[in-house]
Amino acid sequence: MNLVLMGLPGAGKGTQAEKIVQKYGIPHISTGDMFRAAIKYETELGLKAKSFMDKGELVPDEVTIGIVRERLSKDDCENGFLLDGFPRTVAQADALEDILTDLNKKIDYVINIDVDQSILMERLTGRRICKDCGATYHLVFNPPTKDGECDRCGGELYQRADDNEGTVQNRLEVNIKQTKPLLDFYETKGYLRNIDGQQDINKVFSDLDALLGGLQ
Ligand SMILES: [Zn+2]
Repeated sequence: MNLVLMGLPGAGKGTQAEKIVQKYGIPHISTGDMFRAAIKYETELGLKAKSFMDKGELVPDEVTIGIVRERLSKDDCENGFLLDGFPRTVAQADALEDILTDLNKKIDYVINIDVDQSILMERLTGRRICKDCGATYHLVFNPPTKDGECDRCGGELYQRADDNEGTVQNRLEVNIKQTKPLLDFYETKGYLRNIDGQQDINKVFSDLDALLGGLQ
């Protein structure tokens, strides 16, 4: 079960990744975790990546791809893997095809958790935080009893600058623009499966589960 998981911020990718890993026992391989592990164990590529990160520079593709190759070669990927956050570009997707060919594997599905931009906006801008105790709320998923007031301490609720409409919209648009060529690439390859991410979390997973069950 060799999977790539895709989805815009707010689509619920993390939650579904957890559920897939729990049910199917394949390793969840996220770019961040991979980098952290390579740096912790001071692999040659890990040290290379660190030297760029320490300078605040982007890690070049050849280093990232090398780290992915090392990770996918490990024994725990024998029965499958769930890649998350890689590839980000068509060039990386091409490199991934090469890595998998060398390892005598192929991608089964690229799963895209699909959610309308307007709903993502609602999800991503709804967070409110208490000025006094730091409790967090969400206008849709976990609203305070009284508008703008903390249930716990009565403090005033505010919205973080990162969560404001302009910032979120911009972040989403950048993501959509980056993701589009990748989705097209995988569509052409025949790997892409869109899952409706606007449903209840458990229903999203049952759709995923129905798809993945067919691989076993
Ligand atoms: Zn409070």
